[in-house]
Amino acid sequence: MAREEIAMMQDNIFLKIIERKIPARIVYEDDHCLAFHDINPQAPVHVLIIPKKVIPTHADITEADKELLGHLHWVAAQLARQLGLEKGYRLVLNCREQAGQSVPHLHLHLLGGRQMHWPPG
Ligand code: AMP
Repeated sequence: MAREEIAMMQDNIFLKIIERKIPARIVYEDDHCLAFHDINPQAPVHVLIIPKKVIPTHADITEADKELLGHLHWVAAQLARQLGLEKGYRLVLNCREQAGQSVPHLHLHLLGGRQMHWPPG
């Protein structure tokens, strides 16, 4: 493994949440993923859905991850229902620097509870 990759793994705060090394307000967990409230919410509901498998960015997904990605979306739909987002919600996935990705562990943002605007900026 390259030195940069090792550094990225060590900086991966979401891996620490999966391993319960740091706390989070967890709303869902199964064998493949974890969902918890964002620490800096951008909407009344702002939950992050992450795979337990470390995939640094969306650009790193492989064919073997297709089912896992579908699973994350299925969990997002279940959580949206449970969290009362019948009027609608937004899913955001930031990929790499220009999109503003700040944590090197693929994650879906589930945002809702207010009117969303477009373009997102
Ligand atoms: P992104 O900018 O798409 O990489 O999103 C990373 C998200 O992780 C941001 O919305 C942060 O507020 C959130 N975040 C960072 N650290 C934590 C943490 N310890 N617990 C919950 N959310 C976090």
